[in-house]
Amino acid sequence: MTPPQAPVGAGQVQVHEMLPARVLIGPGAVRLVAGEAARLGARRVLLVAGPSAAEAAGRVAGDLGPRLAARFGRPAPHTPVAVTAEATAVAEEAGADCVVAIGGGSAIGLAKAVAARTGIPQVAVPTTYSGSEMTPVLGETEDGVKTTRRDPALAPGTVVYDPELTLGMPPGLTRTSAMNALAHAVEALWAPDATMVTDALAAESVAGILGALPEVLDEPSRAEPRARLQSAAWLAGICLARTRMGLHHQLAHVLGGAFDLPHAELHAMLLAHVMAFNLPAAPAAASRLSGITGSDDPAAVVARLARAHDGPTRLSELGVPRDALPAMAERVVDAPYPNPRTPTTAGVTELLARAW
Ligand code: NAD
Repeated sequence: MTPPQAPVGAGQVQVHEMLPARVLIGPGAVRLVAGEAARLGARRVLLVAGPSAAEAAGRVAGDLGPRLAARFGRPAPHTPVAVTAEATAVAEEAGADCVVAIGGGSAIGLAKAVAARTGIPQVAVPTTYSGSEMTPVLGETEDGVKTTRRDPALAPGTVVYDPELTLGMPPGLTRTSAMNALAHAVEALWAPDATMVTDALAAESVAGILGALPEVLDEPSRAEPRARLQSAAWLAGICLARTRMGLHHQLAHVLGGAFDLPHAELHAMLLAHVMAFNLPAAPAAASRLSGITGSDDPAAVVARLARAHDGPTRLSELGVPRDALPAMAERVVDAPYPNPRTPTTAGVTELLARAW
């Protein structure tokens, strides 16, 4: 067995910040959402859910009964401030004292943004593997610029994971969203602030995602592998909350912000390329990933997963112009996120060219 990479006593003091989240996880947990809102003292709930979560939202609305004060049904990717202003106005007009969000990272991001403006508590009910529900991070866009802030008050206090809400997730979204989670765990393994806790969570998460994802893709509506995949993605979300992200997330932010690209697809197409770039400079992460994948080339294992997607697998297919790549690389090099291998304009351009 690979020893922990960052054991206590290795000459450095480790800082462990645990967010005080209450997590419910298991089939049928959606039935407990109304009770969880009541536990937070909610009498007037704003329910945020896009069309893909309509059925679950209908059930929660029924369970809330007269405590449902208002609904907002149009969350948008990258949390545009104009959409947040609309949803905040709905919350204020309704006198909402709690926001319940059901959906992917977009719905959960909107609830964080509303909570940031109103101070009301949140219950998050994730239907993808984005991990946003576990983090104190909010990224918001205005005039095409995405800014990110981190504040423990932004993290949803209560998270309800119900794998049944993921049974109908299309295979394309399943693969790319699971790879988004995989990226959180992989980057946690080479993060400068990794601890024995994040190492353990990240390793368990990578093994869980790589084990469950092929089974889920074979039989997307089978409950048990879906539950394992969701649990592994939960651990990845904790990794995202607890470690500083590196080159992979930076590239996703820079490209996603510049070209308004679909979040999970972008993560899925970049991850193997960033692993190939970073792993030679991150031997402990490489050894851990080799142990989990049973391969001396873990990046190739992840590349195979990404290539099997029926949607776009290359940046060119998302409309990113080839001649924009050096400028994207320069943005990274100008203010790099902490990364095991120092990014250079030439190195990152080459990485992006491979992904293109
Ligand atoms: P998303 O929430 O935009 O969902 C993608 C699409 O899938 C949407 O059309 C949605 O309606 C649909 N969908 C969601 N769940 C489904 C299901 N179970 N079945 C069928 N369709 C479903 O995408 P996402 O990747 O979950 O989240 C992306 C957003 O989250 C981005 O804005 C990203 O920046 C943000 N994010 C934030 C953090 C953070 O920590 N702050 C972390 C990860 C992602």
